[in-house]
Amino acid sequence: MSAPPAIRVEGVRKVFATGGREVVALDGIDLEVAAGEFVCLLGPSGCGKSTLLNAVAGFSPPTAGRILAGGREVTSPGPDRAMVFQEYALFPWMTVAQNVAFGLEVKGRPAPEIRETVDSWLGKLNLLDFRDRFPKDLSGGMRQRVAIARVLAIDAPILLMDEPFGALDALTRRNLQEELLRIWAGSGKTVLFVTHGIEESIFLADRVVVMTYRPGAVKEVVPVTLPRPRDPSSSEFNALEKRVTALVMAEQARHERDERGAPAG
Ligand code: ADP
Ligand code: MG
Repeated sequence: MSAPPAIRVEGVRKVFATGGREVVALDGIDLEVAAGEFVCLLGPSGCGKSTLLNAVAGFSPPTAGRILAGGREVTSPGPDRAMVFQEYALFPWMTVAQNVAFGLEVKGRPAPEIRETVDSWLGKLNLLDFRDRFPKDLSGGMRQRVAIARVLAIDAPILLMDEPFGALDALTRRNLQEELLRIWAGSGKTVLFVTHGIEESIFLADRVVVMTYRPGAVKEVVPVTLPRPRDPSSSEFNALEKRVTALVMAEQARHERDERGAPAG
């Protein structure tokens, strides 16, 4: 047989208990992501995307079911999986270069190698001129570039990205999407990318996993076979966008019916 999938999610259920109430955030999630594949998790806010990503990252274990990364069960965070958060999780007291170097220093890499790796990633993400600036002096788009450079510098085979471009304006977002695809294309890395943007998911992914809302489950998996770079104004792109929009809207309608039907409180 071929190599194990990069990520395998088996019957994952996640229940949060808060103040005597239980929230079933995920239920019966089965999902496989092949090595080198780019998969988007798509769904409205609150459907459990971050919960699933955090479970894959090993930050928060599932209540039931299990998750495998590279064929091994995930029980904690590991160097094979790197996370990019929506909020630029940069250290404000460190310069751009120091932020990118951080993960390599933790790994104990020698200083000349760290400098070379850091500058190489800063170059690829157009940040070299800003290497000695602090995060507060950068735009939102540049900060997110730094966050991406920092994760790529660690060179983990699996990238977990939680709405990383959600807070950016449309133009900056498109630039970063293109840069991410360019870097991913040559890398063999596996990407699990969370978004609530339908267009973004179709622009990026090999497959779009449309999630249901409460409990979060897989509603449908939509393969996107359009060649890259994709043209969002093409008729093929638009047809897919319509199809995915219909899925998301059907799910929203189902959810609203449930809410109305449910007893108050
Ligand atoms: P998404 O990322 O799709 O917006 P989340 O995974 O953040 O959704 O949340 C899914 C559901 O689980 C929501 O109803 C949310 O309120 C609940 N939830 C998430 N994290 C916690 C937590 N730590 N404690 C209690 N409930 C939580
Ligand atoms: Mg989230």
